[in-house]
Amino acid sequence: MIDSQPRASSTQEVVAELRKRSAFVFVSHVKPDGDTLGAGLALGIALRHMGKRVAYFQQDPVPRNLRFLPDADRVAREIPADFPSDALWVFCDMSDTGRAGEYLPKLDRANVLDIDHHLGNTHFGAFNYVLSDECSTGTCVLRLLRAMDAPITKEIATNLLTTIMTDTGGFMHSNTTADVLRISAELTDLGADKEEITEKIFANKRIAAIRIVGRALAESRLEMDGKFCWSLVDEKMLMETGADGEDTEEIIQHLRSVEGVDVAALFKNYDGDIRVSLRGNGRVNVQLAAGRLGGGGHHRASGLTYRGTLADAIVAVREAILAEGL
Ligand code: 5GP
Ligand code: MN
Repeated sequence: MIDSQPRASSTQEVVAELRKRSAFVFVSHVKPDGDTLGAGLALGIALRHMGKRVAYFQQDPVPRNLRFLPDADRVAREIPADFPSDALWVFCDMSDTGRAGEYLPKLDRANVLDIDHHLGNTHFGAFNYVLSDECSTGTCVLRLLRAMDAPITKEIATNLLTTIMTDTGGFMHSNTTADVLRISAELTDLGADKEEITEKIFANKRIAAIRIVGRALAESRLEMDGKFCWSLVDEKMLMETGADGEDTEEIIQHLRSVEGVDVAALFKNYDGDIRVSLRGNGRVNVQLAAGRLGGGGHHRASGLTYRGTLADAIVAVREAILAEGL
């Protein structure tokens, strides 16, 4: 029986559903990060070991720095034609299905499991495993694996430690609790290689990436008594440095790290849309600020897509963060 109302599912309910089904499609969000991908890969590997059929759907290609993740080469935009129609579609790390992109086939809600740690999750599945106190979607998956008594292989541990390291910014963000460090130590004991993850994800930049960071930082502006720092990346800057969207990921951290800054914004004006990344130090809730403009995320890290001109986007973001108390 399917409830028409969105609701939360218990660990036991989700585990029962995972045991019952024989085929699974893991869905990660557009502009995939280590959490959306690592969480699905980890659970997928465990289910394959249980003899289940597993596929991975992702609109965008796997980012260069995540291709080392075990099973990342199985990720595709197409699902095999003979895939069972009663497969469970498992969405990882997204508050609504829109984040999966435009290529997502139409799905029956009864076949949707939503695993996530976002506060604003819309509970779009028949099963919703949304734990907003968890540091990553990967640690939600770890809870399921433990409840299932599933063996945690080196490959699973590597994927899970990656979800933690990406979503805690390499153990630096405030979501890095003592529990998170304990879990990370356990995953390391199980074979996850912290050194490899650090090297591949955080210290493996193309020269073009370094150059686009430099360009964007040179363009940075400080406003509102030094509490708001923003910058932009546009097509021209990408062309001149030879960088692409993947190379722009770390710019926002630098803007946020300026002394006295409460909120940082990066406006990415390429590929047709204006994508905005917001980061805060906790004083202003950037999830709510992004929410005012149709986006979302977490208290200290959020994003949105703005439809309009860059000038209008900048005004709208200023207004949204002011309204949230900057
Ligand atoms: P980023 O700045 O890395 O693109 O996004 C930061 C965080 O904000 C993501 O981890 C995600 O949680 C959230 N986020 C980014 N863009 C969107 C969006 O368009 N909608 C929603 N709901 N969340 C977003
Ligand atoms: Mn996440």
